[in-house]
Amino acid sequence: GQCAAICPTGAIDIKSDIDAVWDVINDKDKRVMVQVAPAVRVALGERFGIKDNERFNPILVAALRKLGFDEIYDTSFGADLTVIEESNEFIDRLENGGKLPLFSSCCPGWIKYAEDNHPELLENISTCRSPMEMFSSVVKEEAAISDELPDKRTPVVVAIMPCTAKKYEADREEFKINGESRTDYVLTTQELVTMIKQAGIVLASLDPEAPDINYGMYSGAGVIFGVSGGVTEAVIRRLVDKKDAASFTNISFSGVRGLESVKEVEIPYKGRTLKIAMVSGLGNTEKIIKKIESGEAHYDFVEVMACPSGCIGGGGQPRSTRRTLARRSKELYANDKISRIRHSDANPFVGRAYREIIKDDNHRLLHVHYAKED
Ligand code: SF4
Repeated sequence: GQCAAICPTGAIDIKSDIDAVWDVINDKDKRVMVQVAPAVRVALGERFGIKDNERFNPILVAALRKLGFDEIYDTSFGADLTVIEESNEFIDRLENGGKLPLFSSCCPGWIKYAEDNHPELLENISTCRSPMEMFSSVVKEEAAISDELPDKRTPVVVAIMPCTAKKYEADREEFKINGESRTDYVLTTQELVTMIKQAGIVLASLDPEAPDINYGMYSGAGVIFGVSGGVTEAVIRRLVDKKDAASFTNISFSGVRGLESVKEVEIPYKGRTLKIAMVSGLGNTEKIIKKIESGEAHYDFVEVMACPSGCIGGGGQPRSTRRTLARRSKELYANDKISRIRHSDANPFVGRAYREIIKDDNHRLLHVHYAKED
């Protein structure tokens, strides 16, 4: 990975949370929920020699149950919330003269880089929490306010991420509510591999299982967040009026896909043309920022991922090569294509979360402010 601001690859030891996670799994007073990021799923299959993800994903669910997690969920549910909140913020800034370009905020490697090197851009960065944090925020809030949950034990959220920087994100003060982190532990893809080995689980011997509702349900738009360009594609699906398969196919050919480190698209929106850049790698991001600040380039929206090709190439993943990146990205797009729900608003559990949990409290639960340090 190139999340150099936080994990100069291999140069420092990243704190391992494996022992702590075993402890909570074995604690009978804890209700342990696990959320798995889509980029993790597509890399793990290849690690265990099951390259067909349609077959592998339900086997991974079975493995997580066998490890002892109580409820198996998917970070893509959080990504569906992010798509809605981030596109609302984008539309609001477009229509009310807010700061543009709007930069995406789901990559903590990028946030840290901006804080250290470009504090002048902090107000351009979306206030949206990352999908991981939106997910944890909602499930913990539900535990706090609902009398109807069948499992009333203390909730614990474990997130399995392609990313070492997510460990740091989970601990950030800004994400705490009432002084407590919403995501309790972050394991990398590699750490999950270690746990599966420690438990002696043979994946090929498991029968496929389905994740749990309500938070194991997600749209295809929430899946493609794992690859550079995916956030943009998901947001465009929300901005267009026509939400059918043909319209989504057109968007997929607009230039949002592909493993290039810098991509640009223009999309029509209410009589104007929106210019969007998608960039992966912090060196490439620096070049784009220079162009924006010198006036050489103008964008309305910029999606930034610190790792090459986005989270599929994250620092917590098994080794990434051009070939594995291409395969992982193909799997994510295939996963989207076979989803019955292709855009985030159509996820019925997202609607339910807004009605019953988030209500009008989006700001407290789903957003965050990165303050400039004095
Ligand atoms: Fe983490 Fe993804 Fe950002 Fe890499 S691109 S630092 S894996 S969030």
